[in-house]
Amino acid sequence: MTVLTLIRGSITDQRVDAIVNAANSSLLGGGGVDGAIHRAGGPEILAECRALRAARYGRGLRTGQAVATTAGRLDARWVIHTVGPVWSATEDRSGLLASCYRESLRVAAELGATSVAFPAISTGIYRWPMDDGARIAVRTARESVTAPVEDVRFVLFDEHAYGLFEAALAAED
Ligand code: ADP
Repeated sequence: MTVLTLIRGSITDQRVDAIVNAANSSLLGGGGVDGAIHRAGGPEILAECRALRAARYGRGLRTGQAVATTAGRLDARWVIHTVGPVWSATEDRSGLLASCYRESLRVAAELGATSVAFPAISTGIYRWPMDDGARIAVRTARESVTAPVEDVRFVLFDEHAYGLFEAALAAED
């Protein structure tokens, strides 16, 4: 049975098979989680991202999609890069945010990962409201996780995010 857990801390400190990166479509690095992952994981990750851009993803990775690379020096086997939608007050993009969790879990299962760590995708630079982002994350992970993934962790950077994920988990039960 899959267990969803919450952790307060940095995603770069997780020891799991796969760490999910809140990337942008360029795959060439950015701020927030993306910057932290490339800083901690070293240049090998960026080198693979560049190779992906040169091959299958010449126009970048589309919003809601996911692709894996090495995890470099991180204590993980893979980084799964996914591109969250930018929050919009006028357009409902929640299907794309759900797709990030679903596609990342699909890639993780395909790779044979048993444990996956997620950040709260889109809730930083992309401004998605944390309470809604938490509900989408928890619901989609529960619905779409498949074997061999059995350990899904949401790694929240601060107490506020942690509390909202806790509430989203409690509401599901
Ligand atoms: P996005 O561009 O998808 O919004 P960000 O990286 O800006 O992605 O932020 C996503 C969420 O991750 C935010 O809630 C932010 O506070 C949080 N965050 C930033 N750095 C880390 C980290 N090292 N570990 C876990 N979460 C982080």
